[in-house]
Amino acid sequence: MSTKTKYVYLFGGARTEGAASMKNLLGGKGANLAEMCRLGITVPSGFTISTEACTVFTERGRDAALKLIEGEVLEGVAFVEQEMGKKFGNAADPLLLSVRSGARASMPGMMDTILNLGLNDEAVVGLAAKAGNERFAWDSYRRFVQMYGDVVMGLKPVSKEDHDPFEVIIDMIKETRGVKLDTELDTADLKELVARFKALIRARIGRDFPTDPWEQLWGAVVAVFESWNNDRARVYRELNDIPEAWGTAVNVQAMVFGNLGDSSATGVAFTRDAGTGEDLFNGEFLVNAQGEDVVAGIRTPQQVSLVGSRRWAELAQVGEDERRAKYPSLEELMPEIYRQLLHAETTLENHFKDMQDLEFTIQEGRLWMLQTRNGKRTGAAMVRIAMEMLQQGMIDEKTALQRVAPDRLNDLLHPIFDPKALKASKVIARGLPASPGAATGQVVFFADEAEEWAKQGKAVILVRQETSPEDLRGMSVAKGILTARGGMTSHAAVVARGMGKCCVSGAGAVHVDPKARTMSIGEQVYAEGDWISLNGSTGEVFAGRIQTKDAELSGDFGALMALADRYKRMEVRTNADTPEEARVARAFGATGIGLCRTEHMFFEGERIVPMREMILADDEDGRRKALAKLLPIQRADFEGLFREMSGLPVTIRLLDPPLHEFVPHDEAGQREMAKEMKVPLTKIRMRVDELQEFNPMLGLRGCRLGIVHPEITEMQARAIFEAALDARAKGAVVKAEIMVPLVGTVREFNAQAKVIRAVAAQVFAERGQSIEVMLGTMIETPRAALVADSIGRQAEFFSFGTNDLTQMTMGFSRDDAGRFLPDYVKAGMYEHDPFRSIDQKGVGLLVEMAVNKGRAVRPDIEVGVCGEHGGDPASVAFFHRAGLDYVSCSPFRVPIARLAAAQAAIADG
Ligand code: ADP
Ligand code: MG
Ligand code: MG
Repeated sequence: MSTKTKYVYLFGGARTEGAASMKNLLGGKGANLAEMCRLGITVPSGFTISTEACTVFTERGRDAALKLIEGEVLEGVAFVEQEMGKKFGNAADPLLLSVRSGARASMPGMMDTILNLGLNDEAVVGLAAKAGNERFAWDSYRRFVQMYGDVVMGLKPVSKEDHDPFEVIIDMIKETRGVKLDTELDTADLKELVARFKALIRARIGRDFPTDPWEQLWGAVVAVFESWNNDRARVYRELNDIPEAWGTAVNVQAMVFGNLGDSSATGVAFTRDAGTGEDLFNGEFLVNAQGEDVVAGIRTPQQVSLVGSRRWAELAQVGEDERRAKYPSLEELMPEIYRQLLHAETTLENHFKDMQDLEFTIQEGRLWMLQTRNGKRTGAAMVRIAMEMLQQGMIDEKTALQRVAPDRLNDLLHPIFDPKALKASKVIARGLPASPGAATGQVVFFADEAEEWAKQGKAVILVRQETSPEDLRGMSVAKGILTARGGMTSHAAVVARGMGKCCVSGAGAVHVDPKARTMSIGEQVYAEGDWISLNGSTGEVFAGRIQTKDAELSGDFGALMALADRYKRMEVRTNADTPEEARVARAFGATGIGLCRTEHMFFEGERIVPMREMILADDEDGRRKALAKLLPIQRADFEGLFREMSGLPVTIRLLDPPLHEFVPHDEAGQREMAKEMKVPLTKIRMRVDELQEFNPMLGLRGCRLGIVHPEITEMQARAIFEAALDARAKGAVVKAEIMVPLVGTVREFNAQAKVIRAVAAQVFAERGQSIEVMLGTMIETPRAALVADSIGRQAEFFSFGTNDLTQMTMGFSRDDAGRFLPDYVKAGMYEHDPFRSIDQKGVGLLVEMAVNKGRAVRPDIEVGVCGEHGGDPASVAFFHRAGLDYVSCSPFRVPIARLAAAQAAIADG
């Protein structure tokens, strides 16, 4: 006997089949609608068509999918009819439906929703009569034709400068009527709109708008399935690593109406502040409005709570009298509804134990909840909400740690405006503090141009009237986003917070003219390319560039980090080449330096000169003379590092890059070098040519340099030992580790170790004192990983150089892979860029093997990683599982790695 797959799940007052736990099947929206019904919260009845139906649709096509679900959908509609006491398709008293997409992971605004489905020329008359409100019926109808025309029939703007064709018609009618707001259009205008919309559809696609409600319903269901594969959904999935295979569910639900007059409204709310994390219920609503009106920024939304309303008024520079008259809060306007809403938000937050993002509609004095989900928030809000919910006893320590996405700590580590520079700057406009942070950049008006400019290395601020999902890519590369319209829950605001990007929204004084590529504020006109700055925490817009300054760990952030340290097993070190970097990293909680690249010390200022002398020298003697000049410089640098990191390990890598990196390759540079060195240009040219390699990454570099020219290793070892003794003499506790790069065979390591030990003996003899220094190697060639047991017998520690290891194992040149890797990843050859997140199945295997081989011969061998991957949360989790003792990453990723390490330990149980 075969059991039939169930594709449709009911929710409503009488019966609910789904639950929050069924997100994979019902999508986030459907699962939570069902859960709200279970909690006794008032939700319009409906049903959810499962994501499995979407998969059938994608794989086997429309007819197969519809045949499978048809019977259950008919039953679903019958259920809603019974719940609402109205019939779908009954023109005299029509049941109207909304058709809403809903994937597993929330993708706000990414896919399409259709409202008021079931209306046609007869039903609109019935609806008007039943509601006793003709304007409402026609307003609903024009919205339906507009949404259906867009989503199902494909009437989109033609080009990026073009407007939505329906909005163009609306603007035309508004102009002839001399009105500004949608709400000012009367019934006759709305009838006119419907007629014109239909004519537009007919003219554009040669088909009439469907009048049969069932035809409308099937069309809408198919459109939602198809929307899973539209461009903006694809881009969103790409940016957020959502697999294509998940599919979307379709929610079909009875309509409730926020546009039934002044006792009706629609809104969105957050149980806590999504920008700062403050435990304050907040939200926005519009009276006599429907659907996305609040988010679309068509009218200025009102605040839900009185506190919020007063705060808003202050920012928007609206006086208290005007606020109360024109923009009263829901708390003032409909106190009883506000009380119910508070009850719902408390119930939902307590139930889901996380900050909720809510959608609601008020129909003639009755509150209906339309959606709840875990709200998107800034990194700062993530931290604060997690720590406060922990203090409030809502969640435990492990949950608090897991609530913060490590990467999002970036937001808190971002620079803020330098207070002094800020004082000297002029505020040119104010908007809403939609997403915190400081941004300074050049104005661009189009998302694709933001991308182009950013590619050229420019800092850009994307300025738009309002943003839409088409702007995603441009938003993701901009330093900040400024919109002229839209509230705290506008598309720009929600998306920017999700990205941790600075955003000021609804700066009403800003007039954007996309055709002229200018924005004007009062008399002042700003053109594309002009510099402006944004403060996303206050909503201020400034003229010009403003200096920024680094953030610090404190408050909830500091507490979260302390908590992370209690759970993590791995240490987090930093990659630092200067005492200044070491200081920053130590403040961020680094417990050592995992990689000091000595060569970086040679590039600065005058130092390059003796380095070049060494490279130009004809013989060992000449090289030694030049190296003697470098010695005191290196010694001082190392001493500074040892003192800054007193008590903590400092791992110093011997010279690694090919020598040609230190000489100029252009004619002008070579001339200058010739003049400075007092040698003929031809000599420089010859030497540069000699140093040229076809594949420098596989050439004379790493320990190969020290083996060919032992005097280089000698100088560096001497600098390290002398610095260690000097720092100790000044009171520092020195824990130095010398690291030999690019080893492939134990003989290379032994050869370098011999040189280093000989120098140590000499220095100790000269100084009459000695110091313990560990001697280890990098594991960064595949061969080193393969023979790690033989190397481990000699080396006291391993540090995985996963950049080189990835490059050599995968055969991708790091310098050239940028040309094809993005396309390659898009084509699914690899799941992600292996230089960003370690290739666990391949390169990772080498790491695991080398750890095991090393431990087998030297049980207490210290193993760490110092490639870029040390700051990537997924890689950090992998290194934890592989049993590494520490990861090392750039100073600004240290907190991220600490949290990722704690999460990895928690996941490990
Ligand atoms: P999104 O996933 O983009 O948030 P939704 O499916 O939530 O899209 O729909 C967008 C808006 O449409 C909702 O916020 C709500 O205001 C309105 N809406 C959806 N379904 C209904 C309904 N049954 N009755 C009234 N309004 C609805
Ligand atoms: Mg929604
Ligand atoms: Mg390397």
